[in-house]
Amino acid sequence: MRIARFKAEEREFYGIVDDQMLSITTISPFNKCSAPQTIEELISLSPESWNNIKEALEDQEEIKKDAIYKLADVELLAPIVNPPKIVCVGLNYHDHAAEQDAEIPEEPIIFMKPRTAITGPNKPIIKPEFVKKLDYEAELAVVIGKKGKDISVEEAKQYVFGYTILNDVSARDIQFKDRQWTRGKSFDTFAPMGPYITTANQIGNPNNLKIRTWVNGELRQDSSTKNMVFNVYEIIHHVSRVMTLELGDIIATGTPAGVGVFMKPEPKFLKPKDTLTIEIEAIGKLENFVVEGS
Ligand code: MG
Repeated sequence: MRIARFKAEEREFYGIVDDQMLSITTISPFNKCSAPQTIEELISLSPESWNNIKEALEDQEEIKKDAIYKLADVELLAPIVNPPKIVCVGLNYHDHAAEQDAEIPEEPIIFMKPRTAITGPNKPIIKPEFVKKLDYEAELAVVIGKKGKDISVEEAKQYVFGYTILNDVSARDIQFKDRQWTRGKSFDTFAPMGPYITTANQIGNPNNLKIRTWVNGELRQDSSTKNMVFNVYEIIHHVSRVMTLELGDIIATGTPAGVGVFMKPEPKFLKPKDTLTIEIEAIGKLENFVVEGS
């Protein structure tokens, strides 16, 4: 199942995406339970309530009749707008470590981005005038489905609600000047996310998905999540040894080779009007563009 937040007729909804959009926000009441009003509420449902909803959606066509929108008539929004936290992993692809001659870390290197950096699909990435070296990082993002601490690698799968795409946009000039990552990666709009959440049961193995980025149609990143140093479940294990993971948390799992700063013979940074497309197999395509702002 693919779940999106979207805007239609000047209102915000969330719902299920296939060849059309089914708004769960406005669906008629179900027999056995009322519809969850937000994605966070949906994630927190018990398996029993979830099954009741799925059955109702399959059996009762009439409850859907005022809740269907054409995809062309909706504006997609970032699927999670207020995650408790966004945890990111640095240097987590063998090919990305190799392109910068960096050593493979023994444990995941983690840092955080603020939720105010989130923006949605097809929205601008705002490059402040003083940022000179703007760059992209395509990343598989995990949406945490339940609270946990000290989660084992074996149990980690049960804590994943689904997956989306996150672009860990980075101001390389500031990142390298500060010698840590907070300021360079925390500007507003530096975490485009979407286009929707694909539930974990539809993904199969998250550790073997094609991941690609195009800038103005030019293929820049072309790898697979199988090149991750620490896979999704190992990352959940390591992060949860440090901090309690909560429902709706986002974990961005690192980027493969092909970022602008390490391009040969010289770096290629993003400029206003550039378009970015990130595609992850089985998940979708996240598109954004760059504008200069204050
Ligand atoms: Mg990153």
